[in-house]
Amino acid sequence: MANEEAKDFMTENGEISVTTQHIFPIIKKWLYSDKEIFLREIVSNACDAVTKLRRLISLGEVKDIPDEGWRVDVVSDEKNGTITVSDNGIGMTAEEVKKYICQIALSGALEFIEKYETTEGGDNNNASGIIGHFGLGFYSAFMVADKVDVITKSFDGSPAVRWTCDESGAYEMNDSIRQSGHGTDVILHITEDEKEFLKESKIREILDKYCAFMPVEIYYKTADHVCKEPDKDKDGNVKPDEEQTPCSCKTPINDIHPLWMKNPSDCTDEEYDDFYHKVFSDWKQPLFHIHLNADYPLNFKGIIYFPRFNTETDQLEGQIKLYYNQVFVADNIKEVIPEYLLMLKGVLDCPELPLNVSRSYLQNSGYVAKISNHITKKVGDKIVSMFKEDRANFEKLWPDMKIFIEYGCLRDKKFYDRVKDVILLPITDGKKDVKYMTVGEYLDAAKEKHENTVYYTSSPASHAAYIAMYQAQSIDVVDLDRFIDTQFINVIEQDKGVKFLRVDADVAGALKDDTAEKYENEKLTELFKKVSGNDRLEVKYEALRDPKTPLVLNIDESGRRMDEMMKMYRMRNQNDDLPDMGDTAAATLVVNSASPLVKKLGETLDETIAAQMYTLALLSQRPLTSDELTGFLERSFELLGRE
Ligand code: ADP
Repeated sequence: MANEEAKDFMTENGEISVTTQHIFPIIKKWLYSDKEIFLREIVSNACDAVTKLRRLISLGEVKDIPDEGWRVDVVSDEKNGTITVSDNGIGMTAEEVKKYICQIALSGALEFIEKYETTEGGDNNNASGIIGHFGLGFYSAFMVADKVDVITKSFDGSPAVRWTCDESGAYEMNDSIRQSGHGTDVILHITEDEKEFLKESKIREILDKYCAFMPVEIYYKTADHVCKEPDKDKDGNVKPDEEQTPCSCKTPINDIHPLWMKNPSDCTDEEYDDFYHKVFSDWKQPLFHIHLNADYPLNFKGIIYFPRFNTETDQLEGQIKLYYNQVFVADNIKEVIPEYLLMLKGVLDCPELPLNVSRSYLQNSGYVAKISNHITKKVGDKIVSMFKEDRANFEKLWPDMKIFIEYGCLRDKKFYDRVKDVILLPITDGKKDVKYMTVGEYLDAAKEKHENTVYYTSSPASHAAYIAMYQAQSIDVVDLDRFIDTQFINVIEQDKGVKFLRVDADVAGALKDDTAEKYENEKLTELFKKVSGNDRLEVKYEALRDPKTPLVLNIDESGRRMDEMMKMYRMRNQNDDLPDMGDTAAATLVVNSASPLVKKLGETLDETIAAQMYTLALLSQRPLTSDELTGFLERSFELLGRE
C-alpha cells in the first residue's frame, strides 16, 4: 500500500496554476530592463532557506542539525548553459514545492495580469516591484532560462524531490535523491539569447552588486574551476596553511556582517572608511559619516557618508544604496530618500519598507515620509553637533559641505530649521575669504551700523572697488560666489527677516556721509546722461564717506535678482541670445558730492572726462562690452595726448 502510494507520487505532471501561461510572457516582457535581478531572487531565496532553518534550530524546534557550515554555492557552467544555486537550508517537501513553487500567489498575480494585460505600454519599475511583491521572485528565473530544475530535500527527512518546469509553465515532479542532504539546488538552463549571463565576469558583477551583504556566505566558481596550487616559499616548499592565500572558490563573495548592522559603538573610524572605499570605490576620504540605527517603529539601519567632492571636476552625484534585509534593492530611490540626500553616499537597510510595491505607493506612503524625516533629523543634528563640538574643524569642512547643506535648505524647510544657526558666511577682503561668521554673528556685529542687512558680493574680483569702500567703513562683506548661494539667500531672508544686498545695491545707504554738505549740479546730470547713452539713467547726488571715488553705480537688488532669474530660465531653455545683465538691471548713477573730481567736472563739464569717469564706474561694477572698451581706450589715448 505504502509502496503504491509512493509509486503514485513518483511522477506527477501538471501546469503551474491557471495564471502562468499569462504570467510567463509578462515576466519576460516587463522585466526586460532588469533581467539581472533573477540571480538576486534565487540567491536570496537560498539565503532565506538557510535563515529559516537556523531560526528553527535557535528556537529548539530542530535539535539534530548543528548550527554551522551554512552556505550558498553558485556554480556556472558555460559549456552546458546552466547556473546552479545550492543551499543547505530548510529545503522543501513535495507538498511544499506544490504549495510554494507551483502556485504563484494567486490573487495578487491575477490583479497583476489584469492590469498589465489591459494596459498597453507601462512602467518597468512598477513591474519589477510587483514581481517581488506577489512572490514571483522565483519565476524571474524565466527571464533568462527556458527550463528550471529544483532538487530539494526538506530538513524534516522527507524524500528529496526533483521538479522541472519549462517556460510554458508545464512542470514534472519526481522523487529524487539529494546527495548532500537537506537543502535545495536550483538549476537554471539559460537560453541562447541570454548567454551573456553565463560569463564569469557577468556573474561576479551581479553577485557583487546585489549579494555583497547577504546574510549567508555565498561562494562562486565556474564548473571547470581548478583550485589554485598551494603557495610555495622561495625554496619551492609548500607554505604552512596560515600563510596560504585561499583559492577564490574558498572565499565568500559577500560580507555577512555589513558594518551598518553593527552597533555604532563597536565600529572604528577605520572600519567606516574602509567600508566607504570598498562599497563606493571612492578613494577620497569621506568628510564624516552618520550611523543610523532607528528602532521600532521605523526599524531601519544605515550609514550615510558626506563625500569629499571636488566641485571643479566631480559631478555632484552621490549614491544611496537601498537594501532590504541585506539584499540590495536599488540605488538612489528618490521616493524613499529626500532628494538632496541623493548627493551623499551611503547605505540604508529598510526591512519594514514594502519595497516591492509600486512607486506611487512609495510616494504616498506615510511610512516612507517618516523614514525621510528621521534621516533629515539625524543629518541635521549631526551637522549642528559638529559645529558645537569643534568649530575650527567645522569651518575646515564647510567648503565641502556647504553645497549640500544649502541645497538641503532650499529643498526642505525642516532641514533648514535644524541647521540654520550653524550656516556659515565667508567674509572676504576682496582677495580671499578671511573668516567665517554665522548669520546671527554677522547681524550682531553689524547691529550698530546696518541693522538687519547683510552685504555680499557675488564676485570679489570684479567688485573689488566696492569691497574696498565697504572695508574702509569696517563693514563685512560676505562672499557668495555660487549661483546656489543667491537662491539660498532668499531662504534666509524669508526666515530671519534680514535683507541681503549686493555691494553695488546700496551704495548710498551703506557708504553715505550724512554730515557732509549737499551738492547737486543739473548740467552735470545732463552730461552724465549724455555720455552714458541712456537718457533715462537715474542720477543721484550723495556725499560718500570716501571722497576718492567720484561715481558709483547702484544696481537695484530686486530688479537684478529678477534679471538673474530670467537669465537662468533662458539658459535652461537654451536661449543663447542673452542681454548683458548690467544693461537690463535698473541702475542709478550715484555721484559722490564729496569728491573734488566731481566738483571740478561740475565747472569744466568736460565731456571726455565725464565719459571716462562713467566708464570707470561701469568697470568697477561689471566687465565692459566691446564698444564700451573701444570708446574707453580711444578717450584714454586722447587724454594722454592732451597738453
Ligand atoms: P518569495 O521569496 O517572495 O516568497 P519566491 O517566488 O521567490 O517568493 O519563492 C516562493 C517560495 O518558494 C518561497 O517563499 C519559499 O517558501 C520557497 N522557496 C524558494 N526557493 C527556496 C529555497 N531555495 N529553499 C526553500 N524554499 C524555497
